[in-house]
Amino acid sequence: MTDTEKTKKLYISDPYTWEFEARVIEVTEWDGHPAVVLEKTYFYPEGGGQPSDRGTLNGIPVTDVQEEDERVYHVLEKAWDSSPSAAGRVDGGRRFDHMQQHAGQHILSQVFVELFDGATKSFHLGEEVSTLEIALKNITDEEIEAVEKRANAVVFSNLEIRSRLVDEKDIHTVPLRRPPQKAGLLRVIEIADFDYSACGGTHPLRTGEIGPIKIIKWDRIRGNLRFEFLCGFRAVRDYIQKNRSIQQIANSLTISDREVVAAFSRLREDLKELKKEMKVLRTKLLEVEAEEFHAASKGPVIQELFKNREEDEIRTLALSLIRKAPHVVLFGLEAGERGHLVFARSDEIDIDLRELVPFVSPLIDGRGGGQPSLVQMAGTKMEGLSEALAAAAAYVNSQLSSC
Ligand SMILES: [Zn+2]
Repeated sequence: MTDTEKTKKLYISDPYTWEFEARVIEVTEWDGHPAVVLEKTYFYPEGGGQPSDRGTLNGIPVTDVQEEDERVYHVLEKAWDSSPSAAGRVDGGRRFDHMQQHAGQHILSQVFVELFDGATKSFHLGEEVSTLEIALKNITDEEIEAVEKRANAVVFSNLEIRSRLVDEKDIHTVPLRRPPQKAGLLRVIEIADFDYSACGGTHPLRTGEIGPIKIIKWDRIRGNLRFEFLCGFRAVRDYIQKNRSIQQIANSLTISDREVVAAFSRLREDLKELKKEMKVLRTKLLEVEAEEFHAASKGPVIQELFKNREEDEIRTLALSLIRKAPHVVLFGLEAGERGHLVFARSDEIDIDLRELVPFVSPLIDGRGGGQPSLVQMAGTKMEGLSEALAAAAAYVNSQLSSC
């Protein structure tokens, strides 16, 4: 066992072997967690925008894989079982998904160059979606469609994806999409006559394995455009889910899925119209209600405690009433967690309603104010509303009789 031995990275030349045996060359720690370094591995360590593999070593879950000084650290869920060799099993489903996303990114990056001269600024392979930042100022729906059609045509052509090592001094002979990020011996990923890039990630052998490539969203970031995209099974799952949603909407409206967007904008227009009509009707209804209150009133004071109505409505009703005849309106309202009081009077009645606030508002643990002809209060003690209305009525009646 030596701690200077490098790990042979077998996934580079063979990304499809996911089970292997290897000698343990160091039992150590990574970031406080148990870890082992192997003489060779098929586990891909995090790098180049691609997340690390998962799987097991001698049945112990591998929670992360990192590389330092060409040694690959397999971070373990629990301490190593001290055996000198490891039976490795890479989570092939996760790896193949990463291969699809990663190779799909190569294709998208080259298509953006081909169609719009848009260079790739960054790439992130996410757990659910991947993102690609492209040096472009703007893009239309039609242009995105052109990118998707071209990218998928490259997939369907089932081109070979080759990897080869090229020395730094000869790299100028390769038409790389962007300059290499490191020196020395470089690994070039070549999609036959289409794209050349220096990359250390894992890719399938042919573009057909990538499956569908779909851009699902874009936004602006740092003066560039950032695209969210899905490849392979991710795109298929997304299509299944979106198709199901659209079908559910279409079925509930008994229309075809092609009519959903038009139907939605019609519904939105209808809703807008209905809201307008409802506002007119509500105003008319309040007018009728005010008329009923006025007809039923036996004197100038009108007192009422409402439940679960809008505060605005109550105020409108009060203002409508005081315009009909000389009235003092004392309204209370229980709405949700709060109690409200709205007091209003006609111009002909000379009482300053603000005088009510100091002794009425404490009864509802509230506060408020207003003008001589209109005051409003709100508080948390709802059970005090009746008492508050009675106190206000007593005060107003005494003022009216002394006039
Ligand atoms: Zn790559």
